[in-house]
Amino acid sequence: MYHVYRSAYDRACDCHCPTHHGQPRFAYNDPGCHCLATCASQPMTVLAPQIGGALFLNYHGTLWFVPGLQPGHWDWRYATPVDLGHPLADAADLIEQLLRDTHEGLLLLIHRV
Ligand SMILES: [Zn+2]
Ligand SMILES: [Zn+2]
Repeated sequence: MYHVYRSAYDRACDCHCPTHHGQPRFAYNDPGCHCLATCASQPMTVLAPQIGGALFLNYHGTLWFVPGLQPGHWDWRYATPVDLGHPLADAADLIEQLLRDTHEGLLLLIHRV
């Protein structure tokens, strides 16, 4: 039977990351992680060159920021939750909501197929 994954959190890494290949990712700031934004285990991500990185929601719905290293690569050592006191905190609620709405909207499309 064809299986539709509800989210990236259920999927194993497929991007040849030395730490996660073939395994799910439980931590986003693992120093050995070289996962790409296109990795199957990477949650829906907003690429934000304006702030030199990318934003995504972790398993618990908390917004995280990861700085970019070079095109397509991320510095996972410095991935951090965007919480109170973070420079992006003011925009966090809006971005979290947009990511959640987009995820829900896509699920509806997937399950209609
Ligand atoms: Zn990885
Ligand atoms: Zn990966």
